[in-house]
Amino acid sequence: MTERDIAELVAAYKDAVKRIRAELLSLDLTDMSRANTESALREVARILTSLNEESAAWVTQYVPESAKAGVAQAIVGLGVAETVKDAEKIAKFNRINSNMVAAAVADTQADLLAVTQNIDRRTKAVVRRVTAESIRANLTAGINGRRTISRDILTGMRRELESAIDTGIVDADGRRWKPEVYVDMVTRTKTAEASREAAVNEAIGRGAYYGVISTHGATDACSKYEGMIVKLTPDAPGDYRYIGELPRREIFHPNCRHSVTPLREPARLEK
Ligand SMILES: [Zn+2]
Repeated sequence: MTERDIAELVAAYKDAVKRIRAELLSLDLTDMSRANTESALREVARILTSLNEESAAWVTQYVPESAKAGVAQAIVGLGVAETVKDAEKIAKFNRINSNMVAAAVADTQADLLAVTQNIDRRTKAVVRRVTAESIRANLTAGINGRRTISRDILTGMRRELESAIDTGIVDADGRRWKPEVYVDMVTRTKTAEASREAAVNEAIGRGAYYGVISTHGATDACSKYEGMIVKLTPDAPGDYRYIGELPRREIFHPNCRHSVTPLREPARLEK
């Protein structure tokens, strides 16, 4: 998986949001009918369905691919193969990795599906509200001697429609994300996680219970973990921290690029 693969998926979300916005703003606010509204919402649903299909295909390809890359890295790290290319030839998922990959695919799908479901829900709610407003405004337009909906009401309705797709998504920690930024983060984070976990599972399967955290000159909280030797399983002997207990706010956080290279004998690296 490359930067371009992520960029392509992110672009698909951006494009879908743009098309939905155009669809909503093409509604004739001065004379909305239930029929027009429903046809616009059907178009929105079509855009979202095709986006869901595209992202499902993406996840099905790149999450396993990233995990496979993790397995290959572990194989090289343990000296079983000399190059990543050679390692890729023998890399396959052991049972624990097969299960992990299936779960990671499902989990990533669910995260991405939440984005389109959120857009779908918001769009429907706002469009129906604005339609009701328009119909009501037309019914009462005669009251103040005007025959059309006032400019103020139209501006308000337009603003409401725009807000439908600008709200983004709120994650489990209460942070608000724009859809495309969230998709970028989710795909980076989940593929990195799949790769890391696959490397750990492969290492343990090959009897290696330690690892060293990668170094790329991070400037965030991760920096103090670069080059740290960790245990891949809490039961491994030695005075090393267990990888599963490192604080996620500091290392292996969203968008974190750090990986783990397995080690058989940590003492040898320490020297
Ligand atoms: Zn990091």
